[in-house]
Amino acid sequence: MTAQSPNDQTYVGVELCAGSARAALVSAGGEVVARRESAAPPEDPVVQVARLVAELRDASSAQVAAVGIGLPGLVSPATGRVIISSDLPSVMRGDLRAELAKATGLPVTLENDANAGAVGEYAAGAGRGSRDMFYVTIGSGIGGAIIIGGKLWRGASGFAGEFGHITIDPEGVVCVCGNVGCLETVASAPNIVRRTRERLMRDSTSSLSRLGLNKNFTAADIAHEARGGDDFAALMIERTGRYIGTAIATVVNLLNTERVVLGGGVMEAGQLILEPIIREAQRRSFQPNFESTQIVAATLGPDAVPIGAALLARDAT
Ligand SMILES: [Zn+2]
Repeated sequence: MTAQSPNDQTYVGVELCAGSARAALVSAGGEVVARRESAAPPEDPVVQVARLVAELRDASSAQVAAVGIGLPGLVSPATGRVIISSDLPSVMRGDLRAELAKATGLPVTLENDANAGAVGEYAAGAGRGSRDMFYVTIGSGIGGAIIIGGKLWRGASGFAGEFGHITIDPEGVVCVCGNVGCLETVASAPNIVRRTRERLMRDSTSSLSRLGLNKNFTAADIAHEARGGDDFAALMIERTGRYIGTAIATVVNLLNTERVVLGGGVMEAGQLILEPIIREAQRRSFQPNFESTQIVAATLGPDAVPIGAALLARDAT
């Protein structure tokens, strides 16, 4: 009988969202072995995660060594507790890490979802091969994470990388964080819809847009119409890219990371959004910094957070 080497170990990574949980069994090298998803209505996250972990353990003969969770919130590095989560308040009740460890019988690591996504892309996606990377995820909210020399840069309180809350319009609308005019208030998926609706109401040039035919359109619908040649939808995506690029220019000037990786649902608009982001970042940043920074789309899609969470669990054990 041969002893099992650490490389045979696997790790479960879970992305907890408001409406669902997505889990993957991940090898020590960052490859996905199996996936499970639970689209159940919001329930006790401990029950939900324990069930996904059990399903993934049944799916493979490999031994599971630890569980990593990526969630939309801030996790205190001192206590391991979730101290802020406006999207998923249930994770703030009690000591989630201890309860999950008890329910699964495995060591558990909790991490902010943007940080976990960054670790996933850095190890197994669009960040591979770079030394320093800035990661942005743009979806229902906007998150960011900094990796310097292969390590997450968490900052003094553990909450570095709050890219969505960079001020982009000092006279804009109030953000969930209390500030006025954060990037998130113009470029998150719900805010792209809000801006598009407002413009449809007041701008006669939008009257030809197909978006006016559908009352309940989403940011994905706007991207879809833009790809289909709808000029108004394309304009809204392009404007959004310019807002994001303005904020990226600040990051390029400040950190000069080798790579900036952009992920999240809004980036599914592809080149229609990536091109204005790069153009605006170039226009507004210091040239030597811009020229040494590659700005690219993420490649792991919905696997980024589960892979990153699993690898953070690997590194913690
Ligand atoms: Zn804010």
